[in-house]
Amino acid sequence: MNPHSEHPINIAIDGPAGAGKSTVARLVANALQYVYVDTGAMYRAVTAIALERGISPDDEEAIGRLAEELDIVLLPGDEGQRVLADGSDVTSKLRSLEVNRNVSRVAAYEAVRKKMADLQRRMALAKGVVMDGRDIGTNVLPDAELKIFLTATPRERALRRYREMGEQPGVTLEQLEREIAERDRMDRERELAPLLQAPDARFVDSTGRPIEQIVDEIVEWGRAASRTISAGEK
Ligand code: C5P
Repeated sequence: MNPHSEHPINIAIDGPAGAGKSTVARLVANALQYVYVDTGAMYRAVTAIALERGISPDDEEAIGRLAEELDIVLLPGDEGQRVLADGSDVTSKLRSLEVNRNVSRVAAYEAVRKKMADLQRRMALAKGVVMDGRDIGTNVLPDAELKIFLTATPRERALRRYREMGEQPGVTLEQLEREIAERDRMDRERELAPLLQAPDARFVDSTGRPIEQIVDEIVEWGRAASRTISAGEK
């Protein structure tokens, strides 16, 4: 998996929406030649398919059944991760406003979380994975050798999403900020695997900091953790 390191580790990056997790995680994975896994995309895929098939996000039983039956495959690539659901590429459907508005409801259901966490743990078995999400350090990979909790102020997070989305009719910065705050609230307050900083995670505030600086910092911590493990095995 990683030709340049004898002891690849797993890196968990958790935090609220818009903190820069996916950009940071992808660049860290590139630098270390690890595999990047965007777990939010998996919850988004279930949500997008449910909406497409006319299944209500309020129907826990039907959503649970869908998640259990749906074949989700992540394809890592230089251009970013692609997501296949039952064989078809759904990547372009994952970031719509409709999915944004419904994904936290879908992600709170037990059957959905169980299926996704099982898949995620399997992907990390061989090590050399940078996985971003909400519950990676606390629930999916509690033994990850490096855990990061990445955040930024709500205003900055909304601003990043706003710039990312480009001009879209009817979408204002204030509205995005409200929606992000609502998604965070649901993610933090849910019963199962809520958004939470693991006690052994490093807290990183990305507000006003260049992304490269954060990436370099995490890559250094990753290399140090890998060296510590190598030294312990000699
Ligand atoms: O990271 P992203 O914003 O794409 O995640 C979308 C949603 O998926 C989150 O708001 C959260 O509800 C859910 N999620 C989760 N657990 C994860 C990753 C994402 O519940 N590990």
